Amino acid sequence: MRFGRALFVAVALVAAGLVSSFSLTAAAEKASTRSSRSLGPIILEAEAPFWMSGAVASLENDLVAKHGEGARARAARGLAQVSALWRAEDGDEAAFRGFVTTHFAGDQETLDAVFARFERLLEGIDGRMNEIGREFREQAELELGPVLPLDEIFAAYDPSAHVTDDFFANKIAFVALLNFPLTTLEERLGEGAAWTRREWAEARLAQRFSKRIPAEVNLAIAEAAAKAEAYIAGYNIWMHHVLDEKGERLFPPKMRLLSHWNLRDQIKADYSEGPAALPKQRTIQKVMERIVTQSIPDVVVNNPHVDWNPYANEVRPAAAEANDAEEPAPAVMKPTSDPEPDTRYATILADFHAVRMADPYSPTAPTFIARRFEENREIPEPRVRAMFEQVLTSPQVKKVARLIEKRLGRPLEPFDVWYNGFRPRGAYSEAQLDSFCKMRYPSAQAYKDDMPRMFEAFGFSRERAAYLAENIVVDPARGSGHALGAVMASEKAHLRTRIEKDGMNYKGYNIAVHEMGHNVEQTFSLNDVDHWLLRGVPNNAFTEALAFVLQGHDLELLGLAKPDAKSEAMQVLNDFWATYEIAGVALVDMAMWRWMYDHPDATPAELREATVAIAKDVWNRYYAPILKKKDVVLLGVYSHMVNSFLYLPDYPIGHLIAHQVEEKMRSAGAIGPEFERVCTFGSLAPDLWMKNATGAPVGSEALLAATERALRVVKE
Ligand SMILES: [Zn+2]
Repeated sequence: MRFGRALFVAVALVAAGLVSSFSLTAAAEKASTRSSRSLGPIILEAEAPFWMSGAVASLENDLVAKHGEGARARAARGLAQVSALWRAEDGDEAAFRGFVTTHFAGDQETLDAVFARFERLLEGIDGRMNEIGREFREQAELELGPVLPLDEIFAAYDPSAHVTDDFFANKIAFVALLNFPLTTLEERLGEGAAWTRREWAEARLAQRFSKRIPAEVNLAIAEAAAKAEAYIAGYNIWMHHVLDEKGERLFPPKMRLLSHWNLRDQIKADYSEGPAALPKQRTIQKVMERIVTQSIPDVVVNNPHVDWNPYANEVRPAAAEANDAEEPAPAVMKPTSDPEPDTRYATILADFHAVRMADPYSPTAPTFIARRFEENREIPEPRVRAMFEQVLTSPQVKKVARLIEKRLGRPLEPFDVWYNGFRPRGAYSEAQLDSFCKMRYPSAQAYKDDMPRMFEAFGFSRERAAYLAENIVVDPARGSGHALGAVMASEKAHLRTRIEKDGMNYKGYNIAVHEMGHNVEQTFSLNDVDHWLLRGVPNNAFTEALAFVLQGHDLELLGLAKPDAKSEAMQVLNDFWATYEIAGVALVDMAMWRWMYDHPDATPAELREATVAIAKDVWNRYYAPILKKKDVVLLGVYSHMVNSFLYLPDYPIGHLIAHQVEEKMRSAGAIGPEFERVCTFGSLAPDLWMKNATGAPVGSEALLAATERALRVVKE
């Protein structure tokens, strides 16, 4: 599924191992709106007990005496890993010695048994936790009749929230750390290509216990996340009250746009009106700039009771004839242009101070930046930056910009980073497509029954098509649809799809094919990967890329003509321009986090100045030469910078990965066998997965090559 905003934060933080989805939800409920109290510098120290270093040295010798010199390296490594996370409450020196002596696997046979036990039992607990969660959310997620208030509590409950804490408390985690290697990203990338599958599985096992973040730190992070979410969720601009340079109203009553998503999407939507929309697009740009620089008057945020001219930055009480408010104006309200007091940057700093509290408890990735790049993405930050710069400085940028200029018939302006005029033209109307789909799929069961045929059409053998269909359950969803994979091999993947009363419409079908792509990936990457510990794909971008491959063939599956070459080329140009835009946004996010780590005591005003300077610098380097205006701050407007904690780089990386996978599938002939092959690599580091799949590491070449081809098609 494509993530919604709230889910982003949850997924991002849960993926980072920072919060459980339950504590996040609970904290979000308690959070007050637009509060920006800083968390303050509550830095906890992860200090080892005083006796630790002496005990470690003598235990290493004891283990070597017992198991031979060959065990020294493993013993030293295991002792270092356990001692780094052992706390006073885990036991005194005698308990530590007893633990190490009991649980160190001194010979290969014991080590194999310990490894096998972990693999089987972790599959058991994770698989069942996933099943409990699925069952508890069923009433809320599926079309099964009314949802009771009780169902919502069940749906919000995460039974796995405390498993990692429990495993440190009962020392299961320490057994893993004593016997299997923690690795750095450098080691996984440098040596990982030569590792056996078992070595990779051992690395993944140890990684699961690489951090031991105290509950109070996780709670502080969840609270910061909830406050950031609440700040963003209430940041609406009432557009009927935004005036242009001449003081005229450009937007209709009741139009309320959430920053930045709706503001940006309004700029995009307005392209359909041609040059007439220019004043509107320029005015929205002005609003965005004032949000970034925090010169936006505090009183205009989420307030329909004032009129605001963002050019002169003047505020006055809303004109009576323009009243579109749902509620009367508050008794006390100062219609002045006093700026918002840097709340945006205070909120970002609170995020930073919260996640930084986890640093001492994460020895192999001791900063949040490291946890994002080295653990979540597993692509080093400098490589990510270099890939983005490669797109930003590519000759294709100028060529595509020239094409946009020609299509618009005017010189480009800064907001044209959101140009959306590369629309593939469909051969069928939406109504035609709806009627094809409704006829074919009156029910979820009808879709389910058709799955073996669809899989065979993708080039899977009859046997593999039947196997996939057997492993995918189709459920009627309340929402638009999603894919829920299994976590243990004995369970099935679930395809949640939307069926209207008169059958499945085209939108529902298109989403169902996408989600089915996830289910196919989930089935192979769980059941056909040689180690459960290596199940899955490297990260979210990979499963999305694979899902898009199937989704892209939805028309052919219906027996209709596939999109023509021009439509496909337009889609590529659209992706390229979106990647160009979001790569710069991601660079600003990355530089801002670097700056915060370099200036941990900064004030909100100092962070504002720094972020504005960073946004201008990135703009001047990569955008000003194309969009012909210097010192623009637009790249700093994304709300993710406030509520999603260094998530933005995932978007451009996702575009690059999608094109690499797409390119590979295009050249493979039949999709099925190739799809299955790449899904059995499992969760290796992204570069290794991509080398296995395509012969090259993750990079921008596929997107740039596709753009070059698309330019030739569209110019003709
Ligand atoms: Zn998806």
